[in-house]
Amino acid sequence: MKLEKAPNCPHCGKELDKYDTPSFHFADGLGWCTDFLYVCFNDDCSLYVNGKKYLWEKYGQAASYRYMVYPDTGQEDTIVAANPRLMEVRLAALKSQPEEENQEE
Ligand SMILES: [Zn+2]
Repeated sequence: MKLEKAPNCPHCGKELDKYDTPSFHFADGLGWCTDFLYVCFNDDCSLYVNGKKYLWEKYGQAASYRYMVYPDTGQEDTIVAANPRLMEVRLAALKSQPEEENQEE
């Protein structure tokens, strides 16, 4: 089911942020079949907090998961938030840019 607007995170209730698909690939290396994702960027999100704790205790890695949804299908997933703040920096960059809509026909 294609989503018309950003859904809310079931873990923390916060509205998800639109995030363009990372240029790097995760896990299966198959890449992303969509232009953007909806991602929960709430640092207090239970999924993020628990994921952080889990990865730290299990692997000694300062990484975590964030909740995400594919806008085209509404399919839920998690995205690895490794490399502290990388995604947040990217999100801030996205938000500081003016919307680049297709202005030329
Ligand atoms: Zn959340």
